[in-house]
Amino acid sequence: MIDHPPHAWTPVPGFPAPDSSPLDFDQHQHWMRLAIDQAIRAYDQREVPIGAIIVHDGQVIGEGHNLRETLQDPTAHAEMIAITQAASVLQSWRLLDCTLYVTLEPCPMCAGAIVQSRIPRIIYGTPDPKGGACHTLYQITDDSRLNHQCAVLGGILQADCRDLLQRFFAEQRAQGKK
Ligand SMILES: [Zn+2]
Repeated sequence: MIDHPPHAWTPVPGFPAPDSSPLDFDQHQHWMRLAIDQAIRAYDQREVPIGAIIVHDGQVIGEGHNLRETLQDPTAHAEMIAITQAASVLQSWRLLDCTLYVTLEPCPMCAGAIVQSRIPRIIYGTPDPKGGACHTLYQITDDSRLNHQCAVLGGILQADCRDLLQRFFAEQRAQGKK
């Protein structure tokens, strides 16, 4: 049994932590903080605060935050933007040896893009009971009928990722917006 650092990881119901060392958890927290920085950028633009980064060889090669309202583009999710940028950097649609960090569990569209880009590992912050497609509603990223599966770990810095979303929606409600 691995002794996880306090607050670093919260179990996602039904999905126990895979075998990761405490060192991994330190790294996951480090990178997730950068994904949260991206989410804060979305928040500052009055977008639903979701952020993502893609790490390759210890370097960030893709980053993105939700820009759906700004761009009026239903595909402008944080993960999609980060994936496009990473593919451009690697000059390849195959994002081999990459890890995607995202503050919210990916939706079906993004989970599909993750499968298409062959990303081998996803780390997310907080589960999405309304749209999560890695664990919660669907398991698209771990479906053996598809030609690619990836390792998924949810719950890294979950409280930080969730609190930012909750604060955003509370403010939206207070402003009488939908
Ligand atoms: Zn998405």
